[in-house]
Amino acid sequence: MAIIGIDLGTTNSMATVWKDGKLVVIKNSLGDVMTPSVVGVDDNGEILVGKVAAERLVSAPSMTTSEFKRKLGAKVDIMLGDSSFSPEQLSSLVLKKIKIDAEAFLGEEIEEAVISVPAYFDDTRRNATKLAAEMSGLKVERLINEPSAAALAYLQSHDYKDGTYMIVDFGGGTLDVSIIDSFDSVMEILAVAGDNQLGGKDFNEAIYHHFIVSNGLIEAELTAEQKASIYKMSEACKIALSSMPLSSMSVNIDDKTYTLMLDNNKLIEIAASVFERVAAPIRKVLRDARLKFDDIEDIILVGGSCKMPTVAAFIEKITSREVCTDINPDTAIGMGAGIFAGMKARNKDFKEVVMTDICPFTLGISVVDTQTQEWYMDFLIQRNSILPTSVMRTYYASCQNQTKLIVNVYQGESLTPSKNILLGTLTIDCPPTALEEKISDTRLTYDINGILMIDVITTDGVKHEKVILSNNNMMSPAEIERRKKHLETLKIAPTEKEENRLLLARAESAIEECLGFQRDFIVNVVVQFKKALYYGNPSEIRAWTERLKTVLDELDGE
Ligand code: ADP
Ligand code: MG
Repeated sequence: MAIIGIDLGTTNSMATVWKDGKLVVIKNSLGDVMTPSVVGVDDNGEILVGKVAAERLVSAPSMTTSEFKRKLGAKVDIMLGDSSFSPEQLSSLVLKKIKIDAEAFLGEEIEEAVISVPAYFDDTRRNATKLAAEMSGLKVERLINEPSAAALAYLQSHDYKDGTYMIVDFGGGTLDVSIIDSFDSVMEILAVAGDNQLGGKDFNEAIYHHFIVSNGLIEAELTAEQKASIYKMSEACKIALSSMPLSSMSVNIDDKTYTLMLDNNKLIEIAASVFERVAAPIRKVLRDARLKFDDIEDIILVGGSCKMPTVAAFIEKITSREVCTDINPDTAIGMGAGIFAGMKARNKDFKEVVMTDICPFTLGISVVDTQTQEWYMDFLIQRNSILPTSVMRTYYASCQNQTKLIVNVYQGESLTPSKNILLGTLTIDCPPTALEEKISDTRLTYDINGILMIDVITTDGVKHEKVILSNNNMMSPAEIERRKKHLETLKIAPTEKEENRLLLARAESAIEECLGFQRDFIVNVVVQFKKALYYGNPSEIRAWTERLKTVLDELDGE
């Protein structure tokens, strides 16, 4: 039974499978690679999915819906005529069509899939994706970040060439930029940044508004159908500009024909704010990874909007680099998901490739300030940490004779716990502890399969542990137990890693030997290095490790 890889896109979805030593791109019932992620209901109340539904976005806008991936995980009702659907239900209808079409294409049953999700999806949205898969009859044990999938597709066809890569994935509704290190068959994501409200849609809207304004039309006076029609033509006009220097669009409104001619220069002008927003995550991801554009081996463009020559040129301009074009932007993510599915099935065609993942959000626990009695977040696992990871902190009693510990685990970036998502709570009794005496060693461990565990060792040596997130509704207790055992081997925080301890020992003896300004200088670097280890941010750790090594090597060379 095959495991397929699915790119469940905001705009388009597709599937691939690793079969007989090669990757097969699956075609749907219409013979197309791409299935629009669109769902509708026809006049007889029947559900339509894919291209048939997409065709009706204009003619039956109230009976058709798209871009529901943006709402995955949110408690919203999406109305199609009189019926209401959740974003998960709508996504499951797309997945179901993909499953049925793939079964017909391959002539075999499909039970399992690897699905790609934007790197910025938080846990709620990742679980919503899994729920959608479950509703469509697909087992999903692993999700893959879209940029990781794209990198995997690129690297697989480039012999896993060592280097640091930037992946720019610009689709219909999301922009994800990531930096990936490939070294000795280990792929590591160094940083991700993105804008999940930016996509090809924004270019369509810019053209749409330009069409209305330049034709002297008033948007409020247009019917829903007329607006939808202008929007559809705007998108067609944009796509035509990817292969022609000039394109035009015309729309009939109340028996009058309105037209617009557009070239790429004009497009750059009317969509200037969209281009500017593309630059932000590209710059941010480099900053987060502490890299310069020169450190990047290749810039890989994926997603339909990267097919726009203006987008590619804009990225080349801001990076002062040539972008790589030898990968199909439409299928890269789906191919990566299929390769990953092949690896998961332990296909003998694959050489052993280790893929680490990253945690796209910060995880921490709430702590109280004993002076102000205010609650704030203690961030244990930082956003962009490389998975698997494990971080331990020591905590102190917050009141006299404390006998109870309530550990609330949150996901989010706010210092105020209530503004973050509460993932779970572990309540334990502990030996009575005096105010500000040590009460526990508390550890959060997050692995590549999405298992988040908390364990607390109280001062009497008793260990209390709880799986906060198993991230998979279908995992049996026995399976969780097996993985928990495996996690035990991972619980090595950066501060406990042998190479870091050795480096610190070397630094300590250097501090003992040196004097004056030189000594202060080393102390300063060591403090920063220790801070980086404490916060666990991999790129910071890397940067300060290098720095400390250089300082110590220079001393040794003197
Ligand atoms: P998603 O990842 O959101 O599902 P895709 O990667 O399939 O999206 O990209 C869809 C977007 O790409 C749409 O906004 C579409 O208009 C745009 N697009 C597709 N082909 C082209 C093209 N040849 N030129 C410009 N834009 C394109
Ligand atoms: Mg996509």
